[in-house]
Amino acid sequence: MVHANDKGPFMPIDATLPYDPDNIFAKILRGEIPNDTVYEDDHVLAFKDINPQVPIHILVIPKGAYVSWDDFAITAPDSEIAHFVRKVGEIARDLGLVEPGYRLLANIGAHGHQEVPHLHVHLFGGKPLGPMLARS
Ligand code: AMP
Repeated sequence: MVHANDKGPFMPIDATLPYDPDNIFAKILRGEIPNDTVYEDDHVLAFKDINPQVPIHILVIPKGAYVSWDDFAITAPDSEIAHFVRKVGEIARDLGLVEPGYRLLANIGAHGHQEVPHLHVHLFGGKPLGPMLARS
C-alpha cells in the first residue's frame, strides 16, 4: 500500500509545517519512486495519479520544495510561478481537454484534505465532472 504521508493513507497533513523532504512526491522527484510522466522540464513534473478518480487524472507539481499553494505564492520567484501556471494550462491543452472541458484542484491542509505535503494541482478530465464539491 502507498502511504501518502507519515500519518498513513488518506489522512490530511498540516500545511503549516515546514517542507518534509521525505514526502512521496519529493521521492518521485529524486527518482526513488517510479511515476507515469506526462510532461517534465527543469521546473515542472506532471504525472498520472496512482489512484485516478476520472479517466484523465494528472498531478502537476513544481520541482521546488513548496508545501502548498500559499507557500508557493509567497516564497517562489515570479518566474517559477508564471512558468507553473503556464505549464498547467499547456498540459491541459496538449491533452485535448480545452474543448470538452476539465477541472483544476489544489487541496490544502486539513479542511482541503491534502494528503501529500508537496504542492500539486490535480487536473481532471475525460468525462463530465458534475458539481464542484461532493454533496453530502
Ligand atoms: P491530495 O489529497 O490532493 O494531497 O492528493 C494526493 C494525490 O496523490 C492522491 O490523488 C493520490 O492518489 C496521489 N498519489 C499518492 N501517491 C502517489 C504516487 N506514488 N504516484 C502518483 N500519485 C500518487
